[in-house]
This record gives sequence, structure tokens and C-alpha cells, in this order.
Amino acid sequence: MRIAVLQFAHETVTFLPNDTTREDFIYPGSPASGEALLATDPKGYTGGFVQVAREYGDVELIGITSPLWPRTGTGSGWITQDAYEHFLGVMIAELKAQPKLDGVYMALHGALAVRGVPRPEADIARRVREAVGKDAVLSATFDPHGNEDEAFLQHADLAFCVKYFPHYDMHLQGERAARMLVRAIRGSFKPVHRAIRIPIIAPTVVMWTGASPWSDLVQRALIWEAREPDVFVNVFFGFPWSDVPDSGMSLQVLTNGDAGLADRVIGDMAAWIWQRRQALLKTVKIYAMEQGVALAREAVLAGKSPVVLADYSDRSGYATWLLQEIIAQKLERTLIATVVSPDAIRSTRAAGLRPGDAFDAEVGGLFDVSAGEPVRISGTIRDIGAASSGKANQCVCVSFGKGNVLLLSPYLVQIMEPTDLWELGLRPEEFDVIAIKSRVHFRRGFDDSGFAPTILLVEPPKPFLGTVHLEALPYANLTLRDYYPYGNPRFPQE
Ligand SMILES: [Zn+2]
Repeated sequence: MRIAVLQFAHETVTFLPNDTTREDFIYPGSPASGEALLATDPKGYTGGFVQVAREYGDVELIGITSPLWPRTGTGSGWITQDAYEHFLGVMIAELKAQPKLDGVYMALHGALAVRGVPRPEADIARRVREAVGKDAVLSATFDPHGNEDEAFLQHADLAFCVKYFPHYDMHLQGERAARMLVRAIRGSFKPVHRAIRIPIIAPTVVMWTGASPWSDLVQRALIWEAREPDVFVNVFFGFPWSDVPDSGMSLQVLTNGDAGLADRVIGDMAAWIWQRRQALLKTVKIYAMEQGVALAREAVLAGKSPVVLADYSDRSGYATWLLQEIIAQKLERTLIATVVSPDAIRSTRAAGLRPGDAFDAEVGGLFDVSAGEPVRISGTIRDIGAASSGKANQCVCVSFGKGNVLLLSPYLVQIMEPTDLWELGLRPEEFDVIAIKSRVHFRRGFDDSGFAPTILLVEPPKPFLGTVHLEALPYANLTLRDYYPYGNPRFPQE
């Protein structure tokens, strides 16, 4: 069996002013091809796929030249048509140049948003299908923040979506994508699918699957997969910061040739979600920055530290609202990670500053209105990360005030685990408060693990682009009134 492997993944915040360009995908290691692509993501989707595919002695994997995630992470907007056509063009040409392929695995996300291409993942599947012919089996993995309607599975055969948020089961879904692809090629799994959009649009901060009702939703899907052989249930939570026509929740169900079972499962899941739509959207308490920082201080005094202050809203990484409030309320022993400040990092390096030298510069802000004003920080350089190594290691670390530490990064960095910080030479016992930019992913290391007894979600004074107040966003490609809770859509839609 000859199976091609490719990747094209991004979670595009189309409201950001900076387009994601061809150059953003080109850096050491990206694009990747051949064995380098197959080795790129050992704990993730492709790692799971490759591990299981290689358990079969008769499988040959072909790594197609693919862009990895752009260097901007999730901190960039619309993917340019130039970038999309360039990388997809290379993939399609390589697929066409291959001798007969039995299958293709596509490591996707689902929230790729491309200027002029309304449904990029479906477009990728359609063009891959054209390139490899109707007999090849097309399998893919997705992130639950994908925006997918029925279009993708009109061109592809198999799709497997992560269930948990934080995304614990990426490797597992990659494993399934391989096993079921091999079975479909051999003919022992004949995929029949159903797909349906559910007119609910929600901010991702409400979607933590560690607590009810989102944990119940995951459980409902797992029960269907457990009680019926060869049933796969994909629940797309959706990604509302992509202004695309298929934004919002959706379901896909796959069965082994049993259309009736697929109907039954998707009907049950859709009804389950629709009945609980109100509860699914009311899961978190969000504080204004001023109140959140005051509550953090009280929690420290009450011995309920470390406290996590999570700014869920910042989508560029430049925002200074939380930093400003921490300074205004004179918090101590507080770690702020991170504020994007390429200029301050550049000037620090250019001046040849060393740990122990004085630091005096403006940080963050200015990127757009959501970033707020830059903040002048006078302190001492604690550490300067190597410019060549990983993203977090490119940080400049500054001490200021009474035991406060500020991490400056060149790009948006989402701290998900405390260990991300300790690897930078910081020590847990130094801090009472840890201020980060994250919505739900941080719960992996700070909440699910039991690390932080107090967790406070905070938001800036206005509904900026990462806001839960979706009605404040300038959508052009969808109408919010078509979705709960912004309108009263009929469901199911006959
Ligand atoms: Zn996600």
C-alpha cells in the first residue's frame, strides 16, 4: 500500500490585521517533506498516524512537501491566496508525479481561512481527489475548532476530530486515521457518513471539556463509539474568529456501511446539543481586568495561590491591559507571560545587553486597538534566550517591581503548562500570581493538573477581536442572527 502524507493546518483569526503570507510558512524545518515531515509531530496527529501505519508491513509512506504551522502561530489573519496556491500547488504536483497511490492522509485543522476560498479543507480534499483518482482513500484529522460543513466528506472518505479541549487526543486520532485508512483500502471498512451543521456559534473560552456540560458532550460521543463497532463521532465546536460561511458547530458521523446507524447517531448527538445549547454557552465567569486583579490579590492573602490570571481575549499577543492593571494595583511576585515586543527584544540584543544590566523600554501595545498602549518598564534583565532555538527561548526576561517578572516574546506565545516557564529558568516558588494569555489550553497544566487553586478569567475594557461578545465583531461572510444565541434559528432545519 502506498500512502501519501501531507499537512496544511492553521487556526486563522480573520479579524487580525496581518495576513498570513507565504513567508510566514517558510522557516528552518518548514516546509517539510519525506522523512522530515513524517517525523515532525511525534506526539500529535502525524505522529499517531505514522506510528500505526508503520505497524503494517506492507505500507509505504510518502511525505509530500508541506508547510508546517506558520511562524506566527495563531497570531495572524487571512492566509493569502498566494500562500495557499503556492503550497497546495506544490502538494498537488507532487501527488500527480507519484506512481499510483492507494491512500492519502491529510493532517488538517479545519479553521484554515483563505482569502477567496470559502471552504479551504474541502477545496484541498477536492483537488487531492482530482490528483490521485477516485479509487484512492482519503483520510484526515481535525481540531475541534474546525469550521466544517458537509463539503469536506463529499470529496474525502474519512475524518477524525479531536474530542477534548485541551486537545489531549491528537495522537489517538492520528492512530485512528491510519488504522481506518488501511482498513478502507483493504475493503473491511466501507465508510458511510452523515454530516450536519448545528446553528450555534460560541467563543472558545466556554468550551473547556474538563467540566459539565462539555465533558458530558464528549462522553455522549464516546458512548456511541464504545457501544457500536466502527462508529466514529466528530464534534466540531467551531471557531468563531474565522469569518467564514461554515463557522460554528457541526457534527460528522462515520459508520461501516450502515446509513441507518449513522442517521440514528447523528440525530441523537444533534438533539443532545440543541437541548443543552443554553447550558453549553454559560460555563465561565469572566471578570473585568480591574476586578480580576483585585480578586487575585485577595486570593494570595487568603493563601489560595498560585493564582492564574488568564486574559482570554488577546489574539495578537501584544495586549498590555493586564500588565497595566497589575502595575496599577501594585501586585507583587507576579509573572507576566508573555507580552509580544519585537522592538524591545531587537534593541536589547542590538545594545548587547546582558543579564544584570538595566532594562528601560516600552513594551507591547500599538499593534492594533486591541493591544492597548505600550507600557514603559524599568527593571533589570534577568535572561536573554538564544535567538536560534524554540519560540519560548527567544524571550527576553525582565525583573521589575517587587518580585515581578515579565517575559517578552517576538510572537504570540500561549503558555499551556507551568513547565513551559520553569524550562526558562524561572522557579515555581518565586510567584504568587501567574498572568497568561490563554482561553482554555492552559487548563491542561494549571487546572486539570491541580497546580493552581485559583483561576480567574479576565477581559479588557472593550470587546476587542478575541472577545466573547461576538456581536461586536465585523462579520462579513456570515450572519450572526442565523445562529443561537444571536437569533432564534430553527433546528433541525428542514
Ligand atoms: Zn483547537
